[in-house]
Amino acid sequence: MKKITCEIIKDILPLYVDDVVSADTRTMVEEHLAECESCKKEAEAMRKSIKIPLHKTVEKEQAEVLHNLKKTFKNKKIRISIISVLATAGVIAGVYSALVLPKIYIPYEEKDFSIEIVDGNVYANYKGTKEYDGSVTINPTKEKKVAFYLYTNPWNTYIQPLFKREKEEQLIYIGKADEMKEIYYGEFDLVSEDNEAIWENAEKIWIK
Ligand SMILES: [Zn+2]
Repeated sequence: MKKITCEIIKDILPLYVDDVVSADTRTMVEEHLAECESCKKEAEAMRKSIKIPLHKTVEKEQAEVLHNLKKTFKNKKIRISIISVLATAGVIAGVYSALVLPKIYIPYEEKDFSIEIVDGNVYANYKGTKEYDGSVTINPTKEKKVAFYLYTNPWNTYIQPLFKREKEEQLIYIGKADEMKEIYYGEFDLVSEDNEAIWENAEKIWIK
């Protein structure tokens, strides 16, 4: 068999490097490359110039796909955690509102209330058993009448007793002694402060 020239090998090399040659051609090229340093170097150079960028591109694409997946996953995770945080906050806010916001009127009982004047200030002293949450007070009118009432809420009524907190006596500030002549106790709506009904429905509990 006539010895194959470098020219022929170099013609075939691109096909050989691309791996699209027949087994016979491959054997022929490999036999030549084993003996010919020049063609071997050319084949290696060709392999590098084809394979390395290809490899890099694939890697880059894979990395991008992976990166995008991670990003999507991360965003989803963040979105899910934001939603669950909001949902939890919503539930807590709902429970809080239901337990703390309702004002449950504490009815007047003479034995539970006393009016005390300390340093010119008028205070109500509530000695009843209910845990009160707060008080609503009307500013003294021009007739020097004042009304107030205490209220509790489901939290104080049902939840707080579970913790068995010691009930502390507290003076509830009503106003300045020289600004009032009569104190009433009764449930009223602050919006209708001028309504005479407040004084009709409330109980007069203190006269100067
Ligand atoms: Zn050669």
